[in-house]
Amino acid sequence: MSELYTASGSKVHAHKADIFCRDETRVDWHSKALWALREKRDRAAGSLPEWEQLRLLGSQLKLHTLSHLAQYLEQFEQQCLSNGIKVHWANDAQQHNEIVHGILAKHKVKKLVKSKSMLTEECHMNPYLERHGIEVVDTDLGERIIQLANMPPSHIVVPAIHMKKEEVGELFHQQLGTKAGESDPLYLTRAARAHLREKFLTADAAMTGVNMAIADQGAIVVCTNEGNADMGANLPKLQLHSMGIDKVVPNMDSVGVLLRTLARNATGQPITTYSSFYRGPQEGGEMHVIIVDNGRTEMMKDKILAESLKCIRCGGCLNTCPVYRRSGGYSYNYTIPGPIGIAVGAKHDDTNSIPWACTLCGSCTYVCPTMVPLDKIIAHHRRLKADAKRLPYGKGGYMPLVGRFMASETLMNTSMSAARLALRVLPGSLLKPFSGAWGKYRELPVAPESSFASWYNKNRSR
Ligand code: SF4
Repeated sequence: MSELYTASGSKVHAHKADIFCRDETRVDWHSKALWALREKRDRAAGSLPEWEQLRLLGSQLKLHTLSHLAQYLEQFEQQCLSNGIKVHWANDAQQHNEIVHGILAKHKVKKLVKSKSMLTEECHMNPYLERHGIEVVDTDLGERIIQLANMPPSHIVVPAIHMKKEEVGELFHQQLGTKAGESDPLYLTRAARAHLREKFLTADAAMTGVNMAIADQGAIVVCTNEGNADMGANLPKLQLHSMGIDKVVPNMDSVGVLLRTLARNATGQPITTYSSFYRGPQEGGEMHVIIVDNGRTEMMKDKILAESLKCIRCGGCLNTCPVYRRSGGYSYNYTIPGPIGIAVGAKHDDTNSIPWACTLCGSCTYVCPTMVPLDKIIAHHRRLKADAKRLPYGKGGYMPLVGRFMASETLMNTSMSAARLALRVLPGSLLKPFSGAWGKYRELPVAPESSFASWYNKNRSR
């Protein structure tokens, strides 16, 4: 199973997807499990008559904050300081990790309990701290499973979604000493709880991510379903919270809008089980907030890419994406997979394939609670790659040819007739090699008798 992540060789999206697609049973339930989340999301969204209004408000308040970012970040820092919170600024991942290590080293921390934070994944913080002799324990159940399996998250909300319960059972048997062959989720969850409780009680410090940072309060909001952030932050006296600069919002009203859409769009819940507000250290303790840029300011220079910073990391766009559901999270070669992963990660993509891991169907944009125009951003990444002459192999040659065919009605109609005929008369084994590295795992479409244009011409006079 770890081959899904560790397989060496090409990092091109289609080739990595090919590895995932070899296990058709896994692909099918992966796709179904995510689609079930999408359906729950639809029911939750449909139950609120004001849903579209909330999406619009969410988009507007994020755009407003991003266009006044310096003002809100400074206000947040001032309010934090007056609440007794220590604030640190990091330009990039390296600086973030150094700051965190500096704080932990000063307090002689040997064990850190951490609740889910995609930012610390983005900064590769765990291996950095472990190299410095600090044990980092991820306490979200899904995160702990993949940490024990030595893999990164494959989804931003349900990080172990690619694993079968039997695989988790085997992993827990090896790592936690549970009964061999036992894969009952309740039994495994109880074993994980007992294992994590001991980690919580013996930790020297706790760390969480940040869902929202409230500028006029100097407070942060952390959302979890397991209460692990609260357990961590309330036991040891030292607590750290890492946030991207894009997490700041003006006030409590903004939090109200985003909290109403976040969990509904992620898992179909009205709200996460725990939505905790932290606005100062415990008595006799220390609270640190680390504010990280790591390329976000650079992204804001491009008006189209800047909109990806409206994201509140609900994961809804991954659940609905037909490519993500059938190619798995590890095919994207970036900490964040799926449509939002392409939007924020394509600039790191040296395979020049990631922006093409998309059908441009727009389903992601349709579900997004803050109206991030994901399909537009992904198309923009393709344009940027083309302008930089970094198109995937072969595309630079044949796309102008495709353009010429599409510009001529006669050529287009003739080639489509030939394709329909080929689909009807030639065996799939002859055609599939032309359908790409992971096309071989999909069925070819049934060719219609005639094109829509000829059907329309024949029937329009009726
Ligand atoms: S882009 Fe939108 S749908 Fe995707 S994770 Fe972010 S907020 Fe959710």
